[in-house]
Amino acid sequence: MKQSNPSLAIICLGTELTQGFTLNTNAKMFSAKVRELGFDVAYHLTLPDNASLWKNTFDMIMNAGVETVIVSGGLGPTADDKTRFLIAETLSRPLVYHAEWEARIQKQFSERSRPYSPENRVQAMFPEGAEVLENPVGSAPGFKIRQNGITFFMIPGVPSEAETLFELHIVPWLKAKRSVPLFTREIHLMNIPEAELESCLKKVSFPDSVSWSSLPEPDGIIFRIYSHESADILSSVMSEAHRVLVENSQAVIFSENKDDLIRRITDILQKRNETFGTAESCTGGLIASEVTRRAGVSGVFSGGIVAYHNRIKEHILHIPAKIIAENGAVSEAVVSAMAANARRVLGCDWVLATSGIAGPDGGSPEKPVGLVWMAVAGKQEIFTFFEKFSGNREQIRIKSVYKVLQQFFLQLTKQKSSCFFVQ
Ligand code: AMP
Ligand code: MG
Repeated sequence: MKQSNPSLAIICLGTELTQGFTLNTNAKMFSAKVRELGFDVAYHLTLPDNASLWKNTFDMIMNAGVETVIVSGGLGPTADDKTRFLIAETLSRPLVYHAEWEARIQKQFSERSRPYSPENRVQAMFPEGAEVLENPVGSAPGFKIRQNGITFFMIPGVPSEAETLFELHIVPWLKAKRSVPLFTREIHLMNIPEAELESCLKKVSFPDSVSWSSLPEPDGIIFRIYSHESADILSSVMSEAHRVLVENSQAVIFSENKDDLIRRITDILQKRNETFGTAESCTGGLIASEVTRRAGVSGVFSGGIVAYHNRIKEHILHIPAKIIAENGAVSEAVVSAMAANARRVLGCDWVLATSGIAGPDGGSPEKPVGLVWMAVAGKQEIFTFFEKFSGNREQIRIKSVYKVLQQFFLQLTKQKSSCFFVQ
């Protein structure tokens, strides 16, 4: 895709980020927001709090042709907060103490009844010529500084503060710069492996101004197209992609906007005035947890039973011990009874059930680790099916969650599926 827009670099500082203790959520947040504003992100860089690494990287930043650099992290009062010193040194500007900013920070502390310590004084020191950026939600102000045609925004790392300062100081500045919007369209698919999607897409003619990506997510694949040219060109490319997929694959498109699978399922249930619940063994409540991460599902999600031990399967879900003894807990008979009985116990229209061997122990030649029986029970029928998932315990559990949710979507919309069915 032609990079017709001013470009921007995102630098996140923090040893905890490079050591894997903290997920770099700021980079994603900044990137998503600047994309919406129509800017191209040239690169992300995550660096530890290390002076020599910063100095080595700085030359690259200055020579990479970007116009704007957003730096987050390291503006606090502690010894590992080195950002202001590093930028002052690499831009060859002395740090200047601003008494009025220290007074403001002190006032903020007293308003929050927090003791002010002399270590905070450093937060009122900024490189010469910097414009200070107020931080209404924390003690460290940010600052903006321009050198060699590049504008640097230095903001704190705490994600809520980074977002506030971004919205308050960077968004208006970016909006004032000329930019061409980036148009995007996306569809979410299931029932198609990534490689098959790729070969289908070879049949689509993409104009030069349109680029695309396919991103595997737990609930399916997001196929996304982008263009700086127009929204219309994306509509015609998406219609063609749609037609190619329908003609050449079993793919099921479950969303044509940003809604994910759970959102689509809950919307359908809401429209039908129906409810669902769960009876979970190997997923241990993970389906219920994934569903209830979304706000506003109480109208359609009744609740769930974690029937992990056979005692709970017998006493709460009323599955006869004989059925469990004869078939084993990981079986079609048990998962089917879990779903059917939970519908009565929970009093809802639909129930999703899982029973499997998530490992690492407990597998056998007949029932290996990764074998998961799943069921979707509705008013009229119960669909049961199994999968042999690969991966570790967590991967097997999350794959089970989304496989049964995908099957639920197919049942709700009565679409054909390549899943193995027993009716
Ligand atoms: P700092 O501003 O570097 O003192 O960081 C303050 C807090 O914000 C620490 O708990 C960091 O782990 C967290 N933090 C810093 N940078 C990021 C980032 N890029 N993404 C998520 N959290 C961060
Ligand atoms: Mg830090």
